[in-house]
Amino acid sequence: MSLNTNLMYPSMLDTLINANQSALIAINADGVISHIYLPNRPQSSLALYIGKSFFKLIQAVFNADNAELIFATANNCRSLRQQKTVNKLKHISKRNLTEYYDCIFAPAPEQHVVVLFKNTTDAVLFHNEFSNIMEQHETLNQDLCVAMANLDFQLMDLDHAHRKLSALYRITAIVQKTVDEKEVLEEIVDGITRELGFANAAIFLLDPESQELVNKAHRGYNDHVRISLGQGITGYAVQHRELVYVPDIRLEPRYIPGSSNGLSEVAIPLIVNDQVIGLLDVETTEEQALKAYDLDLLRSLASQIAMTIAHANHVSKACTEASTDGLTNVYNYRHFRNTLNLEFKRASRYNRPLSLLMIDIDYFKHYNDINGHLYGDDALKAVADLVRQNCRDTDFVFRYGGEEFVVLLPETAIAQAHIIAERIRKAIAEYPFQNSSTQPGGSLTVSIGIAGYPDDAESETELIGAADTALYSAKRSTRNRSCLYNTNIS
Ligand code: GH3
Ligand code: MG
Ligand code: MG
Repeated sequence: MSLNTNLMYPSMLDTLINANQSALIAINADGVISHIYLPNRPQSSLALYIGKSFFKLIQAVFNADNAELIFATANNCRSLRQQKTVNKLKHISKRNLTEYYDCIFAPAPEQHVVVLFKNTTDAVLFHNEFSNIMEQHETLNQDLCVAMANLDFQLMDLDHAHRKLSALYRITAIVQKTVDEKEVLEEIVDGITRELGFANAAIFLLDPESQELVNKAHRGYNDHVRISLGQGITGYAVQHRELVYVPDIRLEPRYIPGSSNGLSEVAIPLIVNDQVIGLLDVETTEEQALKAYDLDLLRSLASQIAMTIAHANHVSKACTEASTDGLTNVYNYRHFRNTLNLEFKRASRYNRPLSLLMIDIDYFKHYNDINGHLYGDDALKAVADLVRQNCRDTDFVFRYGGEEFVVLLPETAIAQAHIIAERIRKAIAEYPFQNSSTQPGGSLTVSIGIAGYPDDAESETELIGAADTALYSAKRSTRNRSCLYNTNIS
């Protein structure tokens, strides 16, 4: 034995090696094992390894690649006379467990090399476990960051969406306060641009006769336009009864330029009872990318608009019906009393003239008797039309009762009212009514009483009374006449 075994302090090494689960092998210049210490193994049982090839032993213990590496490092250590280390050598134990060793090579006298195999399984496993946990932690951390960023984003979105919903609520609340269609449409486009912050907004209504979309209210667009069905994005949306969203109008051949700054366009048909009545068109600029909820929001706004327009139409139709006479299409008695009340107040407050004509068809009973009630009705309608045609736009014509009409002339003094009354009387007298020649006097005529505020009356009732009295005067004379209440005037 050439290696000085005294240096090895076998009993101490035993303790040390067993405690650290390490093995120590000394090899000579020929690669032959000269000393060996293995954990928990008495020296006597290890005698069979002495004089055996180190390479074969480590080949049996580690895999071929590792054995080559260990052998080469041992030789390298010997020739350079330097300590070397190979870390984390993998070894599968007899019980099929993975173990790890650090392999430390130290040059020894007489070309020997001492190799210490230090079992580092616990440390490696712990390290691996730790790295694993760290890796998982890192991944979790990243996931958490992404989740938090998303949450933040969604919260921001939520806030944005919340603000838009409040704006939508405000718009619909304003809109519900009025039933005037024009006012409703103006409020809506104002709300969409001012409250919801979209750049441009327009509402088109479908003209049933021309089948064109007519721009009724807009913000941010060029002047009012008419668009044929099928023309542009708007025409397409109405024709196909579907929402059309164009993210970039520059790439859209159907786009008809209507504004200077639009980038995206949304066109939503307004549908009530399965009928398209118009279209809501909204444009956004580059800074206002549309979100999915924006489209939902506009869609619900569009159905609200459609309902509101339908409601406004319905109310205005109901109002018209409530104040109009069904036969003659002029205002009815109820509306007369309301209008007279308003106009009288206005006239008295601002000290302005207000005149009233009371018109009664002459011998109408006779006309009915000769021609029958149906022709009588036709004549009544024609008289109503003639009265309307011969007054001004600012005057109001009412059916007062049976074959009597009244005309209210705001801002009109008695002299002027007289002129208008005469114009009406003549127009009727000259009109070729059916069978009018059979009437007394040879034509269907009217008598008209004229009275005015402030000259003839101080109250509404007095004004009606005065006009009635004047009419009575006309009837008492020749009929087919217009008479003033106060004959001193005019
Ligand atoms: P005058 O006024 O010149 O004194 O003679 P008149 O024949 O017109 O007399 P009066 O005003 O009393 O008669 C009104 C007639 O008008 C009676 C009625 O037959 C007729 N009349 C009233 N309302 C209607 C209506 O809605 N349709 C038709 N066809 N006739 C009506
Ligand atoms: Mg009468
Ligand atoms: Mg009459």
